[in-house]
Amino acid sequence: MKPLTEREIRSAFVNCTKGEAKRLFVPYDLAERPWDDLDYLGWRDPRAPDRAYLVTELDGHPKALTLRSPSPAPWQTRRSLCSVCVTDHTGGVSLMVAPKAGKPGQQGNSVGVYLCTDLSCSLYIRGKKDTGLIARFHESLTVEDKIRRTTANLAEFFTKVTA
Ligand SMILES: [Zn+2]
Repeated sequence: MKPLTEREIRSAFVNCTKGEAKRLFVPYDLAERPWDDLDYLGWRDPRAPDRAYLVTELDGHPKALTLRSPSPAPWQTRRSLCSVCVTDHTGGVSLMVAPKAGKPGQQGNSVGVYLCTDLSCSLYIRGKKDTGLIARFHESLTVEDKIRRTTANLAEFFTKVTA
């Protein structure tokens, strides 16, 4: 994706108020991020590790989400597949919850997604980061196919949040 500035990121949030988007934590090292290898940029707030954020480009426009990662219930820890990039992990996947955009979100409605805990889906599918696991199943997809699938899954998640 193309590099974004702090200002572009702050104005891209779809599921929080303008005031929240102005105050939330945005990484200082945006210029050094590997944008060419990213389908989305994801980060956490170092002061509030249960808060995560991601920004991507949909139809040529930056769109960003605020997410919470609640502590997993015991039944959740068995889940090991990221539902966005479909990378297989052991313990490297977290349930993240996005408040819905607009009124439904203010009323407490949210949408959940299982996501790579370190928000590095883009690097896993490109083989730039590995899970430290010998893959339990091999996919015959090319990197391009995986990128297409990841961006499609992400777009679908945005659709659910803004529906
Ligand atoms: Zn992932």
